[in-house]
Amino acid sequence: MKFQPKASHFINGEYVEDTNGAPIDVIFPATGEIIARLHSATAEVVEQALNSAKMAQNEWAALSGTERGRVLRRAADVMRERNRELSILETHDTGKPLQETLVADATSGADALEYFGGLAASLTGEHIPLGGGDFVYTIREALGVCVGIGAWNYPTQIACWKGAPALACGNAMVFKPSETTPLSALKVAEILIEAGAPKGIYNVVQGYGDVGASLVTDPRVAKVSLTGSVPTGRKVYAAAAADMKHVTMELGGKSPMIVFDDADIENAVSGAILGNFYSSGQVCSNGTRVFVQKGIKDQFLARLSERLAAAKIGDPLDESVNFGPMVSENQMNIALGYVEKGKAEGARLVYGGDRIEGGGFYMQPTVFADVTDDMTIAREEIFGPVMSVLDFDTEAEVLARANDNEFGLAAGVFTNDLTRAHRIVAGFEAGTCYINTYNLAPVEAPFGGSKMSGVGRENSKLAINHFSEMKTVYVSMNDVEAPY
Ligand code: NAD
Repeated sequence: MKFQPKASHFINGEYVEDTNGAPIDVIFPATGEIIARLHSATAEVVEQALNSAKMAQNEWAALSGTERGRVLRRAADVMRERNRELSILETHDTGKPLQETLVADATSGADALEYFGGLAASLTGEHIPLGGGDFVYTIREALGVCVGIGAWNYPTQIACWKGAPALACGNAMVFKPSETTPLSALKVAEILIEAGAPKGIYNVVQGYGDVGASLVTDPRVAKVSLTGSVPTGRKVYAAAAADMKHVTMELGGKSPMIVFDDADIENAVSGAILGNFYSSGQVCSNGTRVFVQKGIKDQFLARLSERLAAAKIGDPLDESVNFGPMVSENQMNIALGYVEKGKAEGARLVYGGDRIEGGGFYMQPTVFADVTDDMTIAREEIFGPVMSVLDFDTEAEVLARANDNEFGLAAGVFTNDLTRAHRIVAGFEAGTCYINTYNLAPVEAPFGGSKMSGVGRENSKLAINHFSEMKTVYVSMNDVEAPY
């Protein structure tokens, strides 16, 4: 077992094992080889993790923001120093090409640790003057024990995007990675300890959905931040509501990308490639409904096919490879199933569509044209490398069609008409919008969805509001006036 960690869980600063938990096999998607065997957390392990978080949190919150921030910034430095090693691990866990993981996973996690580490010292309340000398001041307080639950597409990033703002605000975290990609969160926990974090403020427990559910319903937990699908989001949100817990929901999408006939075609094709095929299409904010204005449709499709033919598909550990396998056989089969639905419902396959034989969970980057709004491939999240190209004539028509979907995670527009770009973005029902680019998510900017795609925002200063709450203190400088 090439990547067997010391144990499955990381609790109170140490690796912890309990082999009574259900086995979790970690599979390298490029070969199907088992690279580690872990165990799902038992009730005892969950109890240990929540206890250690609860015990550690008060002391951590009592440190100054400068001290907490220093730990996070040191952790960011360690992550960057180990970027290659962490990226190799992430590539084995997810199958994503090393070319990607070297620049988009541990580095993105480090950005979050650095950014929220930098903010920690400036988290304050405010002073609100009132009439007659009375005033109010507010105290920004940590929520307590926060639970993070991750998806499998960006495991290191998700572990840090949730952990960094939580810890900056003085919370402790219990993080449950996806059972499909359990390895890298353990490294994040190790690195935080190495950077000086007190034991117990960042714990990792492995497990399937039942472990996530047991964390969400525990009365010691004040907040749950989930990255996952809409069906899971519904369950987690409902369970959290029973105890009025705070939630952040980063869920799925079926985002539109609109290409007007005045757009720079090369840039629009680049955006469509990034927004559909990066990480083999396993990105929540992907712009999988590509609306192309009729006048440039043929040119767009021709150029897209030419550029896709230049994709280098292969061993994700080869740094020249830029298109890897899907995360699992199951996910590949789901995506291939959608390809069959696309064909059956009359969409025109213009590129790819097949599994790539020879071991591993590879399928071709796939493009359908002549897709209509009612087809399954245009309505449901596929979470694989399957792009739908839809035609349109007018601005008003395309905006209405772009918004006609239950999701609202992201949306993009390619045009050289400045006013039209802003008009379209103002009309988009989506949390994260792009003009003449797609899928960038810098830590400085809020990220999250509208409608069924989520609640709350990650990253940016806004994330602080989702991991802290304000205590209002009214101070009277005058006698108390009572009616009798
Ligand atoms: P998933 O919903 O199957 O699982 C997500 C996590 O929830 C896993 O850790 C899983 O074990 C856990 N879980 C499952 N049932 C649970 C329950 N009842 N209670 C608590 N936890 C439970 O999602 P996935 O297949 O891992 O990830 C793909 C999905 O995630 C896609 O829909 C994608 O769009 C979404 N996603 C969203 C974002 C975002 O930021 N908006 C980012 C990445 C992925």
